[in-house]
Amino acid sequence: MTKTETDIFRKTLESKRTELENANKNRELPGAEASPDELDGIQQAAERDYAIGSLERTFSRLREVIAAIRRIDSGTFGVCGSCEEEINPKRLAAIPWAPFCIVCQEAADNDRTSPAHEMEESLFMAV
Ligand SMILES: [Zn+2]
Repeated sequence: MTKTETDIFRKTLESKRTELENANKNRELPGAEASPDELDGIQQAAERDYAIGSLERTFSRLREVIAAIRRIDSGTFGVCGSCEEEINPKRLAAIPWAPFCIVCQEAADNDRTSPAHEMEESLFMAV
C-alpha cells in the first residue's frame, strides 16, 4: 500500500474516531432517576439497557478504529493480523478498521477460540 493510500485511510479512521468519541461524550443514559409510574419505569429501563448496549458497541468500534490507526503507524495496515495476507482493498474501503481478511474474520466469527480471535483480543488489550 502506498503512502498516499494509507494517508487516505488515516483521514477516514481519524474522522471516525472523532465521531465515535463525540457519540460517547454526548450520550446521556436515560431514566437513571426513579419514576413514580411503574410502566414508565419499565420503559425507561428498556431504554437504558438499549443505551448501554449501544455504548458498548461504540466503545468496541472505537477500539478497532484506534488499533487500525496504530497499524498505519507501524506499517502493518492492510495486512491480515492472522494469516498475514493482504486484506482485499474492497473490504478495507468498506471497513477500514478491519483487522483480518474476510477468510480469517469468518473463521473467527464461527469459532470464538480460533487464533484469529485471540489475536483480535490481544489487539484490543494493547489499546
Ligand atoms: Zn487472514
